[in-house]
Amino acid sequence: MTASVSVRGATRTFGSFTALDNVSLDIEAGEFIVLLGPSGCGKTTLLSILGGFLTPSSGSISIGGKDMTGVQPAKRPTTTMFQDYALFPHMRLADNVGFGLRMRGMGKNEREEKALGFLDLVGLKASANRKPHELSGGQRQRVALARALAVDPDVLLLDEPLGALDLKLRRQMQDELKAIQKRVGTTFVHVTHDQEEAMAIADRIVVMNQGRIEDFGPPADIYMRPKSLFSAGFMGEVNLLPGHVLEVATDGVKIETATGTAALPLSRFTHGKPKAGDKVVICVRPEHIHLATQESSIRLGEAEVTGSAFFGTHFRCHLSPLAARDLSLIAHMPQSAPIAPGDRITLALDPAGLTVLPAA
Ligand code: ATP
Repeated sequence: MTASVSVRGATRTFGSFTALDNVSLDIEAGEFIVLLGPSGCGKTTLLSILGGFLTPSSGSISIGGKDMTGVQPAKRPTTTMFQDYALFPHMRLADNVGFGLRMRGMGKNEREEKALGFLDLVGLKASANRKPHELSGGQRQRVALARALAVDPDVLLLDEPLGALDLKLRRQMQDELKAIQKRVGTTFVHVTHDQEEAMAIADRIVVMNQGRIEDFGPPADIYMRPKSLFSAGFMGEVNLLPGHVLEVATDGVKIETATGTAALPLSRFTHGKPKAGDKVVICVRPEHIHLATQESSIRLGEAEVTGSAFFGTHFRCHLSPLAARDLSLIAHMPQSAPIAPGDRITLALDPAGLTVLPAA
């Protein structure tokens, strides 16, 4: 089954410390939501509040439209899967998966059938009689997922479930997790501090910082149109070009930066229409700085290439604008780009890849 989740003004304090600060969030039934942010930003606190392991100091939680604020974990339509997904070592995999069903009084045959169905879902039906110690880390992870799903939660809460796996296995499990979530349709709320993981699996990402939500949206929106400088920086490498608004006209906004003046369409301003004199920051992803100027490019003066390293899919170059040598920009240039340290290029920015935010 599946359910929507609504958080209204949730705050959680520990003594004088505010771990979660007036958070509101609406999750639709069947969504794969990722809570993303640095260590200590309040992800686990929010997840624990959803699961009922912590009560909010103020605010409310509802699941499937029903108020759950003071409800015990066992009485919620949620299951939590922790990172140290302790499986019972002496039990067959099928019995591990069927454990929650046994607790609910389901008969042996029905339980076995259900457990096999969920082991099948995670690709381990043929291993039903094996014990956890005979499995790899990734396989144990799948059994824990099957066990969590077997009790048919409306919402599955996952706290860094892939944190203990090595990088390659982790990437593989991310794809599997996403595919399984789409098949079962259960609402997933998944905690991670890994931005690539969030992008790989989420329908929508909640970017958190210091107990607050900084950004909320589909991965591409957060990457391309971040709503805060923190969100822009957390979702991957970004160049921040400070400037101020010179003029606001109907066809665009002129921004003066240390390396030249850029005219940008209003659609690039995520915080509404600016006014002359506003201090702003132009956010540019490295892949939106181009070597060759095109008709649509925003030109921002000349720059010198001060370094270049081959990264397989691209060259990662350091650029120093001639008019502002203290600025160092990162650009990703195509493999085929004839570029070397010492070269001079025109800073050509792709307007579709720019976001302008108010300066902090
Ligand atoms: P991590 O990725 O490291 O798990 P997180 O984003 O999940 O971090 P939380 O575990 O939610 O962060 O913790 C948020 C803040 O609240 C942290 O500064 C933490 O030290 C504090 N905190 C959490 N639980 C308690 C507690 N029981 N008592 C006191 N402080 C707490």
